[in-house]
Amino acid sequence: MLIDVHVHLFPPDVIANIEKYLEKNEFLAQLCSSPRHKYATAEDLLAEMDKCGIDKSAISGFASSDQGLCREMNDYILEMAKAHPQRFLPMAVVDPLDPGMEKEIRRCHEMGAVGVGELMPWGQKFPLDGKEAGKLASICSEKKLPLLLHINETVGHYYAGKGDVSVEEAAAFALKYPQLTIIYAHWGGGLLFYELMPELKDQLQNVYYDTAASPFLYHKNIYRVAREIGILHKVLLGTDYPLISPKRYLKELQETGLSQKEVEMIAGGNAARLFSNC
Ligand SMILES: [Zn+2]
Repeated sequence: MLIDVHVHLFPPDVIANIEKYLEKNEFLAQLCSSPRHKYATAEDLLAEMDKCGIDKSAISGFASSDQGLCREMNDYILEMAKAHPQRFLPMAVVDPLDPGMEKEIRRCHEMGAVGVGELMPWGQKFPLDGKEAGKLASICSEKKLPLLLHINETVGHYYAGKGDVSVEEAAAFALKYPQLTIIYAHWGGGLLFYELMPELKDQLQNVYYDTAASPFLYHKNIYRVAREIGILHKVLLGTDYPLISPKRYLKELQETGLSQKEVEMIAGGNAARLFSNC
């Protein structure tokens, strides 16, 4: 069973009128204004999943500071998951600064959402030590919804969407809300390396890491390093499709020197376990 936990879909209506949305939303414009930016619908994703042998994808819209747009994204995601229940695990996006955040998470949960995210603390401007992040953590813990958060490395080359939320903040957030299941995207910006510290490994037990954008960021040896750190059971295949095709990750995984069993854990086994607990 191959599962991709990090995919972004846009409703066809939003893609058709994207200029209108980019004008209204500074953060979305920053990420999506490049003429090379790729948009995918559920149909595009299904075709790609079939091509690559991916059984299931956790599908997200695109989080922004426009709660109306988040809701529109969620409606599409929930509708697509209902149409393809064997293929899609729907995730809800929200604006944590919006007073309706909690209500929207409850609405999505009732309609079948199995997680929240990907949210961007930097781009959506909600500090991880703030009261909005606290409310978000509480509702996700209460409903047993894993929270997928964008955390990137704060060193190295710049790219659109690279924020300045640090591994310190990410670690402190996980420590403050131990009941919350967190998936830190993009290898948690390097937080995984600190799991070599026994106290951090203990404190980060409910933190998972996805591999989104890994081929752009890290040498493939990172998978073997994760094994050495002893956290392979918490590594989840996340592709950030349509940014990168799952094909590239699956090829890379075969070249890591990990055993077939270890590859299967990353490519689906860990995610199946995680989402079955929710
Ligand atoms: Zn991200």
